[in-house]
Amino acid sequence: MRDETRAVVSHLPVRTAQHERVGPHTTTTPTFPPTAPPERTIPFAPPSIGVEEIAEVIDSLRSHWITTGPKTKAFEAAFGAYLGTPNDDAMMVSSCTAALQIALAVHGIGPGDEVIVPTLTFASTAHVVEHAGARPVFVDVLPDTLCIDPEAAERAVTPATRAIIPVHYAGHPAPMDAIDRLAERYGLAIIEDAAHALPASYHDTRIGARSNFAAFSFYATKNLTTAEGGALTASPDLLEAARPLALHGMSRDAWKRYGVGGSWSYDVIAAGFKSNMTDLQAALGLQQLKKLDGFQARRRAVVDRYDEAFALAPALETPIVHDDVESALHLYVLRLRPERMRVGRDTFIDALAERGIGASVHFLPLHMTRFYQSKHGYPDEAFPVARDAYERMISLPLHPGLDGDDVQYVTDTVMHLAQRYAA
Ligand SMILES: *Cc1c(COP(=O)(O)O)cnc(C)c1O
Repeated sequence: MRDETRAVVSHLPVRTAQHERVGPHTTTTPTFPPTAPPERTIPFAPPSIGVEEIAEVIDSLRSHWITTGPKTKAFEAAFGAYLGTPNDDAMMVSSCTAALQIALAVHGIGPGDEVIVPTLTFASTAHVVEHAGARPVFVDVLPDTLCIDPEAAERAVTPATRAIIPVHYAGHPAPMDAIDRLAERYGLAIIEDAAHALPASYHDTRIGARSNFAAFSFYATKNLTTAEGGALTASPDLLEAARPLALHGMSRDAWKRYGVGGSWSYDVIAAGFKSNMTDLQAALGLQQLKKLDGFQARRRAVVDRYDEAFALAPALETPIVHDDVESALHLYVLRLRPERMRVGRDTFIDALAERGIGASVHFLPLHMTRFYQSKHGYPDEAFPVARDAYERMISLPLHPGLDGDDVQYVTDTVMHLAQRYAA
């Protein structure tokens, strides 16, 4: 097993800096062309996979269960217990997108319905509403946390509004007290997009531990990864309604049918989706979950050093975390202060890339994307907070694999550039 594991590790591809350009931007000629290869290469968010995960996957491959089976069940129980969900239960699925889709279906959301979504989020938060035949209604975000603005959400409520999808942006919990009041007043379902929020807490309650639906992502860049994967948490009633929808609407899953003592009998009770998690993914998840607290401690240490260093640069605005929450610290989103800089965000990111640092932007606001812009049309002044944040935001590398020298290199480089480009 040992040698086999090493062989696998040595064949893992070398990750290069991810530098995804998103959205409309002006092309700039780099002011400082690289004269030599960068001193270091620091990818934005590579997965932290160790020999434990690899051994667990090999164990699955050697067993009879490669798709949904005992490891998926074990991961559901361990994940539910970790979050303290009702009944310590959770449903594993193929992605956060699938989890959101299933949640909307359980609430019966479809044509004629409206769902409130922050504009500053990943595309799938709104796409799932489109796929359900309903209309995503975008609202602006709060200037400090960049989470959904509950007052803007209230102004967007119409008689057709059925649900609200708060996003715990960058790992910072959305203002759930205000969202609860809104949902109560207008009879809305709450579906949390918790893709960034593992593990996060709002007023000492873990995100995912409430009775409404919360959808988690285990995509490759997230705090815990199963390559692709996700989880849905909710009250036992909602989860029971959700379970068949992840596997064709079948009333019993394959594991129970084909397992020892299982029976062939089943019924189809809904036109469900094909969104089940495989045991290969759950194998990764079981081992990742054991390491999660350690990963978070490492993220905390990196964030503390970034905060400390960047507080000294007048051109940089560091992210804030409110006292009454615990952030999952999924992203470190720095904002430039344009009045103190001679260059824009794109040039800054290019300069980081030239120095081997993978940075990114989260996100191009959905109302500025070609699809949603052409479908619904938004004036330029719509959602000014999200637009302003987007224009000056940079997500810096943040992952447990960063060592002290990496962090030093990132802070030195960012501080150097902030000085060099200062107005
Ligand atoms: C990653 C992400 C998703 C989608 O997650 P998948 O597991 O890839 O479907 C949804 N919402 C947000 C905010 C995300 O960052």
